[in-house]
Amino acid sequence: MVSLPDPDPSSSASPEIRSVLVLGGGSAGLLAALTLKRMHPSLAVTVVHSSEIGTIGVGEGTTAVFPAHLFETLGISKEEFYTEAQPTWKQGIRFLWGPRDEFFYDFEFQYDQQFQGLPKPTGYYARMECTDLSQACALMQRNKAFTTGPLGKPVIKGQYAFHIENHRLVTCLETIARRNGVEFADDTLDRTMAADGQVTALHFKSGEIRTADLYIDASGFRAELIGKALEEPFNSFSGSLFCDRAVIGGWERTDEPIAPYTTAETMDHGWCWQIEHETFINRGYVYSSQFVSDADAEAELLAKNPKISTTPRIVKFRSGRYERNWVGNVVAVGNASGFVEPLEATALAQIIYESRWLAESLRRTAGKPDDAMRASYNRIVGIAWDEIRDFLAFHYKFNTRLETPFWKHCRENTSLGNYEDLYRLYRELGPNPALLAQALPARPNIYGVEGFLAMLVGMQVHYDRLHLASGGEMDTFNRHRQGIAAKAKNGLSVREALDAIRRPSWQWT
Ligand SMILES: Cc1cc2nc3c(=O)[nH]c(=O)nc-3n(C[C@H](O)[C@H](O)[C@H](O)COP(=O)(O)OP(=O)(O)OC[C@H]3O[C@@H](n4cnc5c(N)ncnc54)[C@H](O)[C@@H]3O)c2cc1C
Repeated sequence: MVSLPDPDPSSSASPEIRSVLVLGGGSAGLLAALTLKRMHPSLAVTVVHSSEIGTIGVGEGTTAVFPAHLFETLGISKEEFYTEAQPTWKQGIRFLWGPRDEFFYDFEFQYDQQFQGLPKPTGYYARMECTDLSQACALMQRNKAFTTGPLGKPVIKGQYAFHIENHRLVTCLETIARRNGVEFADDTLDRTMAADGQVTALHFKSGEIRTADLYIDASGFRAELIGKALEEPFNSFSGSLFCDRAVIGGWERTDEPIAPYTTAETMDHGWCWQIEHETFINRGYVYSSQFVSDADAEAELLAKNPKISTTPRIVKFRSGRYERNWVGNVVAVGNASGFVEPLEATALAQIIYESRWLAESLRRTAGKPDDAMRASYNRIVGIAWDEIRDFLAFHYKFNTRLETPFWKHCRENTSLGNYEDLYRLYRELGPNPALLAQALPARPNIYGVEGFLAMLVGMQVHYDRLHLASGGEMDTFNRHRQGIAAKAKNGLSVREALDAIRRPSWQWT
């Protein structure tokens, strides 16, 4: 977790924040409320959400930031979480993307490493074969979730993530938040009173008027406070990312094995996820309405997934972020603060960064944040949003799998934003992580060089200075991969690992 700069002693501080009103009880509102309450127990935190409006009901893949935040930072009991939220494990993403049949992106290191005995980092040897470069990658290739430890038990450690059904996650987080002293109310916002760039009161349909020292806008795409009331400008990402809708459907699992990864499959006008729940398989086709109608997108999804038994539903989104996420006494989190798109499942991680940076800002300023702290917060959150945009832009720019108008448009028109230099250097020098690190823009660098190399090497993007490896080098490279593969072969599947943690003898350490 990146730390924020020190507060500016010359900047005038606001009055002390003692009460926080969170507008919205989706995963963003709940994670923000829980994080603030756990890190500042004396704060009075109230979540007001609307059962009339409900939650978005999508957002089912996480990154490795999520379990680490839940179990380590918030101290949530693993036993309770696994029982109530019923997640399955995700070691990364299987891409059906670019010229290879498939490749895997994990949360470990495949390319930001150099095997012992080799003169070059792994990327130079992986032009033709990019399998078994990390333990997580080797596990995914074999449909295994974890390696096997003593007594045949799964080793549930390292950089793993989850697939979780959104409604189960929200229900579980709400129960835990209530137990931690967060107050809840079910009401619908009617009017927001604002003056001088600050919210002064929220008027609800019940007639209740609520005030607080700090307001968290977690109202989802409605962005009731930051967007509608304070009219903060919205920075669109439409120069890099062209998808704006998803059509979603799924089916009850029968005999399909539970894969330990999300699948991201290239489609004619976008891409399709497959998310693996224990008893349900969820598919979602993310597409660009400039290139295909809703009806044709739905038809393509159904033709490629004849098992879909639910009525497909369409979710519209716009890709971009508010210019500032903290304005006066309002901080936006989750979809109210911005949204890129579902590829790489980045939104829950961004909610966690936002919540932690906010909690940290309050700690640094003893609950009296000043303009300088707000500016630092906005800077770092803005950079994080833009990095996600640029990382996803690489996925679109270099995917050569299909020759449809949509994909040609992506290859010709996608801007790489702040990572253009990193690509230029890669083209010249190849997959050398140490040299490419010099081209990384300002922190936080969520994906590091590793993330970008995983996509560039995965999609076999050309570079000039090829390394012609000797036979001896390739033998060494393959010996390392065989060692990684041997451990993965004896691993346990998601099904076996779920069975293991449900046995009475299982103990979380
Ligand atoms: C197609 C798609 C796929 C996605 N996939 C992923 C993924 O795989 N992984 C991931 O991390 N993220 C994903 N996301 C993002 C995901 O939706 C969010 O991470 C997550 O669900 C947080 O949503 P939220 O809490 O911001 O909004 P919501 O779930 O929409 O919650 C908004 C809350 O505000 C309340 N509210 C709104 N207006 C009012 C009002 N006027 N008065 C009172 N209350 C109000 C609502 O009742 C609700 O409680 C995806 C998004 C889309 C669109």
